[in-house]
Amino acid sequence: MLPRPRPVLRIESDRSLHLPSANDAGFAHACKPVAALDRPMKRASPQKVACSFAARLVDWQRIAGRSGLPWQGTRDPYRIWLSEIMLQQTQVSTVIPYYLRFLERFPDVQALAAAPLDDVLAAWSGLGYYSRARCLHRAACQVVDEHSGIFPREFAAVLALPGIGRSTAGAICAFAFGQRHAILDGNVKRVLARHAGIEGWAGDPPVLAALWAESVARLPPAVDEADAPGVDDRGAPAVDETDAPDAAGAGQTEIGTYTQALMDLGAGPCARSRPRCGDCPVSTDCVARLSGRIEAIPAPRPRREMPHRASAVWLLLDSERGVLLERRPPSGIWGGLWSLPQAIDAQVEASIRASDGALQALAPIEHAFTHFRLRIEPLLVRMHRVQDAGAALQAHDGESGRRWVALEQLESVALPAPVRTLLETLRNGGAGLQPRLPGLS
Ligand code: SF4
Repeated sequence: MLPRPRPVLRIESDRSLHLPSANDAGFAHACKPVAALDRPMKRASPQKVACSFAARLVDWQRIAGRSGLPWQGTRDPYRIWLSEIMLQQTQVSTVIPYYLRFLERFPDVQALAAAPLDDVLAAWSGLGYYSRARCLHRAACQVVDEHSGIFPREFAAVLALPGIGRSTAGAICAFAFGQRHAILDGNVKRVLARHAGIEGWAGDPPVLAALWAESVARLPPAVDEADAPGVDDRGAPAVDETDAPDAAGAGQTEIGTYTQALMDLGAGPCARSRPRCGDCPVSTDCVARLSGRIEAIPAPRPRREMPHRASAVWLLLDSERGVLLERRPPSGIWGGLWSLPQAIDAQVEASIRASDGALQALAPIEHAFTHFRLRIEPLLVRMHRVQDAGAALQAHDGESGRRWVALEQLESVALPAPVRTLLETLRNGGAGLQPRLPGLS
């Protein structure tokens, strides 16, 4: 029996997706050839629908899912946690080199907790969404301080760590501890919305609640959990085998494989655009497919105008000292990273503006944040052309939160991606840097 269609909604933007599309290199490299493993059901009860759904996905994952990714094949919660955080809003192929480098630099939770935040941000630099790195560091300190350096096994304790939400906690507990918890990342929302026919935008609380209910209801039975049941997503004891729905056809299900299968289906066949339903192991009872509403489900996030902001930044470049950087406040945009100053000493600015050929306004750089677009307007100053350059240079020496950094040492500094790109372009000769107003240089 098919689930009844529900009220329509819309789905959140792809920025929330933490797995690649079917065309993504990460998926393509990790995937085996897809085989159709559909098992049609006849008048199954909702419990059997859930069991059959899980069983088909597990079978499919073992044959056609991704394997060989650096964070697979381990039950080390630190490594799994790190991968889950990095994969939020970031594609697999982008994450892999960062993940490997990060593990080399911080091989365990103790090493991460002991490191200065600056080092962690530097290792994260370029991956974006830096609050993830700050939370990761805070959580590592919390694991060391409150859990004697051992990553907690209880769902509620995992969920209490900074930067870990319900879905991430569920994935960590499933992969690392074999516990039976639901997940609901962006890709899984799409899979469940289509398969169950849940319409509307997943950002709407009633729709989100329906999707969570669907995700929990479809969990496979806990027949082979490696550990004693922990707690469920509300902090209650996790469902064990005796509480599980009819396990017919799902007796060999393993929660980690099922969780991976859900992720793989969303990243592969059930991609946002042009899903490959012929490769899908649960296509026979997919409500969206059967009702011809694949394109309509899930509904996109309601359109809204993205506000624009503009900010001039000073790019003070000295042949001996390098570039002047300023640390951002600990929270907010680029929190804790080193960026270009938005304001400089008033006398220095007056001296720069009075110096012939010292100031060059570069072409603006557009950068998109989640909630607005930022237009960065760099003002390049070649300090050797500034009148009384010595005094100008000294004006910013010793200021707390500011430092000169040699262009050759940028790799060791936590910089926002567009600032890094700008400075590296400058370091490499400046090809591609266009003056905003011809004649200013
Ligand atoms: S049948 Fe198609 S739309 Fe439905 S879950 Fe499978 S891939 Fe997605």
